[in-house]
Amino acid sequence: MTTVDLPLLPLGRGTDLNSERGVECPGDLPAPSDPELVARAQAAKDKLGDRVFVLGHHYQRDEVIAFADVTGDSFKLARDAAARPAAEFIVFCGVHFMAESADILTGPEQKVILPDLAAGCSMADMARIGQVEDAWDALVDAGVADSVVPVTYMNSSADIKAFCGRNGGVVCTSSNAEVALEWAFEQKAAAPDGAKVLFFPDQHLGRNTAVLKMGLGVEDCVVWDPHQPHGGVTVEELRAATMILWKGHCSVHGRFSPAVVDQLRATVPDVQILVHPECTHEVVLKADLVGSTEFIISTIEAAPAGSTWAIGTELNLVQRLARTHPDKNILFLDKSVCYCSTMNRIDLPHFVWAMESLAAGTLVNQIEVDPETARWALVALQRMLDLPGKSHRD
Ligand code: SF4
Repeated sequence: MTTVDLPLLPLGRGTDLNSERGVECPGDLPAPSDPELVARAQAAKDKLGDRVFVLGHHYQRDEVIAFADVTGDSFKLARDAAARPAAEFIVFCGVHFMAESADILTGPEQKVILPDLAAGCSMADMARIGQVEDAWDALVDAGVADSVVPVTYMNSSADIKAFCGRNGGVVCTSSNAEVALEWAFEQKAAAPDGAKVLFFPDQHLGRNTAVLKMGLGVEDCVVWDPHQPHGGVTVEELRAATMILWKGHCSVHGRFSPAVVDQLRATVPDVQILVHPECTHEVVLKADLVGSTEFIISTIEAAPAGSTWAIGTELNLVQRLARTHPDKNILFLDKSVCYCSTMNRIDLPHFVWAMESLAAGTLVNQIEVDPETARWALVALQRMLDLPGKSHRD
């Protein structure tokens, strides 16, 4: 199979495949300087009443979070949407793959709206379905595919989740990655050369979980680079590996560095380092605590007054934690300001435009997953829901 040459962030499907960045909303956005934006958003929300349910991801701007009916990580939000079957419109203030998951998990009558179609996720776009199918073909040719279970992080497109559903795999979040890997290895426990996992799109979550939670060594992992011939690995390396990690990463969490951890420890007394497992292995090794977005929030909530924390996750969330916990010292684990640029595309003008359009009877920016993709993606999601124990949050 040949790889389809899609743009880096292939959104706007069906409109203009070659211009994901800057996909225009099909209407007049209000000016960011409009002093009435807050009042307009509230008026539209009041008019829609129970017909609309607004979801706000933790990484969203405060100006948008102010209108969210619930906040949370991607999986919690999708489940919250599914628990509101009476809501005709689910306005998802987050990024594209999250809106896809909400569409898969909500009823057929419910419409999921993404206020800006260009709010994608660069990590999710690092594993495209054609590339993944090429990699799978290579595993078949190497004679190892029968030993491999594909595991995808929640932060992936619906067609990648569907690939996992069709091929005996599962979805995971950063909270349940360990349980998902245990499940995956059990599925192929009888394989003659041992079970393997193909993990995508985030190599760091895969490596951190394999090494810190599963007792594997860094040497048990190989990295499949979809931009290299044969992934940049030999057949022998594939046969020897236990974890085949996709070469993808989060552009936000990838910024945090071990050097800054060292500098903070040297200059800030009693600082504790709290990071997300999308950070690099080197950063995670130097951290005091590692965990999902929800773990980071609950850790800060439970921390004693006067304690000092440097947090390695998206800046909107870190700033909100600092504001809501003034009795604690909250620092950002980077030298420069860095937000998730695609999360930040959902701003008040886009939110107002989407809400006013819906209130006026015009359906805009609906995210729909085709039924066949949704069916198989749901298989992989359901396998995750059936995993024992741990919560299913990212
Ligand atoms: S923070 Fe990283 S993983 Fe999350 S939406 Fe932004 S680029 Fe994607």
